[in-house]
Amino acid sequence: MTEHGGTLAQPDGIPYLAGMGWDSILGHEREVEKLRYGCAAGRLAHAYAFVGTAGIGKYRFARYFAQCLLCERHTDAELQACGECPSCQQVQAHTHPDLLVVQLPEDKRELPIRLFIGEDESRGKEGLCYDISRKPMSARRRVAIIDSAETMNEESSNALLKTLEEPPPNSVMILVASSADALLSTIRSRCQILVFQPLSTELVRELMVQEGLTTNVGEAAQVAPFCDGSLQIARQLLDPQIRALRNELFNLLAAHPFLSVQTAERMIECLEPAGAEKRSQREYAGWIVRFCVEFYRRALLTVAGAPAHQVGDVPQVRAFVQRLGIVTYTTIDALTELLERSLAAEIHLSANTGIALCFETFFDDIGKILRQPTA
Ligand SMILES: [Zn+2]
Repeated sequence: MTEHGGTLAQPDGIPYLAGMGWDSILGHEREVEKLRYGCAAGRLAHAYAFVGTAGIGKYRFARYFAQCLLCERHTDAELQACGECPSCQQVQAHTHPDLLVVQLPEDKRELPIRLFIGEDESRGKEGLCYDISRKPMSARRRVAIIDSAETMNEESSNALLKTLEEPPPNSVMILVASSADALLSTIRSRCQILVFQPLSTELVRELMVQEGLTTNVGEAAQVAPFCDGSLQIARQLLDPQIRALRNELFNLLAAHPFLSVQTAERMIECLEPAGAEKRSQREYAGWIVRFCVEFYRRALLTVAGAPAHQVGDVPQVRAFVQRLGIVTYTTIDALTELLERSLAAEIHLSANTGIALCFETFFDDIGKILRQPTA
């Protein structure tokens, strides 16, 4: 068993297509180019970190890269996979003995140490760090993919760091992470970093239909602009519960006068469907703050006279902007302040601040900004 951890399904929601080529890696032509350029110049690294937002296809890209590095018919300089040799077929079937994959187990928030150095009773004789140090079974090298690498805890990070410090011969390690900053600096400095750009709105819209996230083309067009180029966000935004939450929050944000305390209380109540689990509550809270960012960004775009396709048509935003009356510099300043405060709340939430406290101070500040005479 060379693939450890969670399911073999695509964690970023983009299915793995058998027999694909670089052409099927949509939206990352620049990243493909960079990687191929380095390999053609003979600069294949021992370790890579593929970093960027979740849900844009980094893992799928990593798997295809691995397939190229294992393909029997192409050299590293060519960086191609034939899709037909036994090695390619094994990669596609998730059975290649020299492709080692660790993924976040479904019930875990962190990549546990056992995936790297084995269980207590077999420490150092199992796990990714052990497997990658062994001779390849059939290919010219061993390749490891560490998915969700940003969730490595300190123990796991240190175990992997030891391997990265003295990379075994004939090995390539690919870390897939949501951001470079989420990795230990000592790990980062040992990896060649490839930054992945979000998908274009147009591509998100197409993929939503193509990948079966929705069959409704109109719905895809409506949701795509708010996905930050991520199919994972698209999937979440298609969830009726999340959309109802957005609608309710927008009503509260558009209310006149704005009621700080009630809004905070109601939003804290809204976290209940997420269950008692802190992680999912934080995810839900993240949506609330993200929607505030969206609301004030749209309002700002509206008063700035941005074209309709950028602003969209959200009734609550329209009502909110109408009440602002004649737009002056001070109106724009106030809207900018609202947007900045919402972005700051996003940072506070991700920094593990208590959700209730974060909401109370956030909506209180929103109220204060709105009560300024000019707002
Ligand atoms: Zn091949």
